[in-house]
Amino acid sequence: MNDTKPRQFYWRGVRVPFIAPWSGESQIRVSLVRLPDVLGGGIAYVGESPRLDRRYGVLWVRMPAVRGAGEPRLASVHALRQRQAMSHMLCQVCGRPTFGRSDERHLFLMGERHGKPITEGEKTAVPPVHENCAAEALRDCPHLRCGAVAAWVEYAAPWGVAGILHDPATLTPLPPRNGEELAYVPLDSADLRWTIAARDVVSLHGCTPVDVDQLMALAA
Ligand SMILES: [Zn+2]
Repeated sequence: MNDTKPRQFYWRGVRVPFIAPWSGESQIRVSLVRLPDVLGGGIAYVGESPRLDRRYGVLWVRMPAVRGAGEPRLASVHALRQRQAMSHMLCQVCGRPTFGRSDERHLFLMGERHGKPITEGEKTAVPPVHENCAAEALRDCPHLRCGAVAAWVEYAAPWGVAGILHDPATLTPLPPRNGEELAYVPLDSADLRWTIAARDVVSLHGCTPVDVDQLMALAA
């Protein structure tokens, strides 16, 4: 899984980010069942594979992993590659490790922030990125052009997941309370049992803001 030289894909002259899903990688919907209270309750898939469907006990979305199948969905995220990138600190654009700097920091870049800086302890589902890959993304990704921010980060700590909570009574999906696409659920929350995870979430520590204009200049 942790391929350090993943293949690079291009679409209409632009590199397709490692974490972008393709049309052939749509989520596979699976019927849910309620686990008995003696097992702690919560939801499970019908015919679940604990090895494939759970990570650290948390249920994850099922998605094929076939990069290059069909057309890329550049505005979306492939849940399992996002998790792989976050777990191994792989670049969200090229999929290669972001370790190796002498100061041991990692660069994080986030869009649609309207200039709001990345602050200490911030929770994010956006994996790290190389400087050159960040510059390329700032040049090529429309959603990063409106208020992207970046920071050097000393340490990204496991925090939880982002996913879809389910009603314990009906097992139907619940809309996120914060108006976001996904609910953020910490690792120590009882809600984890009722969540289908779709993103790994970390908290960022030792954050130093980076000038996005200087980053963008690298791609000039
Ligand atoms: Zn990269």
